[in-house]
Amino acid sequence: MSEGYRLAEGASLAGRNTFRVPARAELLADVSDPWALPTLLEQPWARFLPLLVLGEGSNLLLAGDVPGLTLCLTRARIERVEETADDALVAADAGVNWNDLVHWTLGRGLCGFENLALIPGTVGASPIQNIGAYGVEVGEFVDSVQAFDRETFRLREFEREDCRFGYRDSVFKRDADQYIITEVRFRLPKQRPVRIDYAGVGDELAAMGVAGAPTHRQVAEAISRLRTRKLPNPAVLGNAGSFFKNPVVDAALAAALKAEHPGLPVFPGASPASAKLSAAWLIEQAGWKGHRDGDAGVATQHALVLVNHGQATGAELLALARKVAASVQQRFGVALEPEPRIIGARFSTAEPAA
Ligand SMILES: Cc1cc2nc3c(=O)[nH]c(=O)nc-3n(C[C@H](O)[C@H](O)[C@H](O)COP(=O)(O)OP(=O)(O)OC[C@H]3O[C@@H](n4cnc5c(N)ncnc54)[C@H](O)[C@@H]3O)c2cc1C
Repeated sequence: MSEGYRLAEGASLAGRNTFRVPARAELLADVSDPWALPTLLEQPWARFLPLLVLGEGSNLLLAGDVPGLTLCLTRARIERVEETADDALVAADAGVNWNDLVHWTLGRGLCGFENLALIPGTVGASPIQNIGAYGVEVGEFVDSVQAFDRETFRLREFEREDCRFGYRDSVFKRDADQYIITEVRFRLPKQRPVRIDYAGVGDELAAMGVAGAPTHRQVAEAISRLRTRKLPNPAVLGNAGSFFKNPVVDAALAAALKAEHPGLPVFPGASPASAKLSAAWLIEQAGWKGHRDGDAGVATQHALVLVNHGQATGAELLALARKVAASVQQRFGVALEPEPRIIGARFSTAEPAA
């Protein structure tokens, strides 16, 4: 144990990924003090090793053992650093569990995160793919992100505009592992209209007996209940949430597909020339919902979720994902892209299944 970090060779990552697939890290570093990062990473043996930054492993698929250095930031402090009559600035360490932060803020009269309740993972990973749910994305509330830059070996501050947030995207996702996020600062309002227009939220509040205007905490509770019902719990059935992003296609292709398949849900794209399609619908129509190849399967509740029924390996789950994407491509001419990061393999439907 060196100051600020602990190293382990050949450490098992089976309990550190929500797919619960077996894999080992060649070298695992649990870093309890982000200020130890320069000392650790500037060591000659560490400088040129491949690096994986790992949070709770809820948005990645380990296709095999992980070479080089796997790094986890474990410090988990939350602090209110500034407050006005209207809002507060909250700083949270990368190692804070996301849902703990949601409840910490709601418990202190700050709102905004209620629709993001119960998303698995860490605060450090939240800006990576700009986590979002029920019509809200975290990027809206990010004030700044502090990250260690592996190129310059310095801590760097990103203002919100520098993060270039998009749909499940940010500058950090595009340059994976260049930046090790150590802390995120969020500006959260004390008042804000609740967003309950998303499918099922109003009904869930009614089922909870909430009459009239719900509080932000009640919205968080309704969304947690909905999520618990709709998505398999990774503690029971290994998964990484939605495995494919909703594909963004040319508006003309979306219109042609809609004419041929009137049931296809089509959402507006970022510009009038594009449209977003429901990946779940495409996969279900291609006949994959509930399918199993051994212990690698497509969830019965939700066609977008791949699941590990017990002993599936990352390579087996990846092979199934490729088959699903290839069949959607063949049937609808639409390419599906995985949402989780695939570690140790490339995702391509052109490649033979592993
Ligand atoms: C059941 C379930 C439901 C889900 N629902 C949603 C949802 O509704 N919306 C949504 O957006 N996501 C959802 N996800 C995906 C996941 O929860 C988020 O992407 C989450 O932010 C991942 O956090 P993590 O700590 O597990 O990151 P990991 O899976 O460990 O890592 C994900 C990526 O972030 C990088 N990373 C992690 N920490 C850092 C850091 N400190 N610095 C730099 N890079 C880092 C990793 O290298 C990797 O590229 C769901 C997942 C599951 C299992």
